[in-house]
Amino acid sequence: MTKQRKLILDIINRSHSHPNADEIYHEAKLIMPSIALGTVYRNLGLMVKEGEIRRLVSENAPDRYDRVKPLHDHMVCTRCGAIIDTNIGSLWDAIEHSVGEKIVGYELTVKHVCNCCKSEQK
Ligand SMILES: [Zn+2]
Ligand SMILES: [Zn+2]
Repeated sequence: MTKQRKLILDIINRSHSHPNADEIYHEAKLIMPSIALGTVYRNLGLMVKEGEIRRLVSENAPDRYDRVKPLHDHMVCTRCGAIIDTNIGSLWDAIEHSVGEKIVGYELTVKHVCNCCKSEQK
């Protein structure tokens, strides 16, 4: 693993804020000033493909990146797009049972209105 790739992976594994590529780039630059945005994008793409990190695709915002472990799901605010981690228990067994075969993964996004947006409404 290149040291650029290790750095990017560390940033994502430490983060709980689901950073986008730009945010990862800025954080990486603090530690490794010579790193290029293109390098960050290329490594993110490779790591998603190899299952080291997750890409969270949202409709009106840049893709965000997330650690793979521990296994968790996401709740997304339909107003502001904020993403929080949630663990609603493993659906893995239930899904395998339903589809009748072993699965390698699943994506679940729970949509809600976050507390900030709820209080703004009042
Ligand atoms: Zn919100
Ligand atoms: Zn997450």
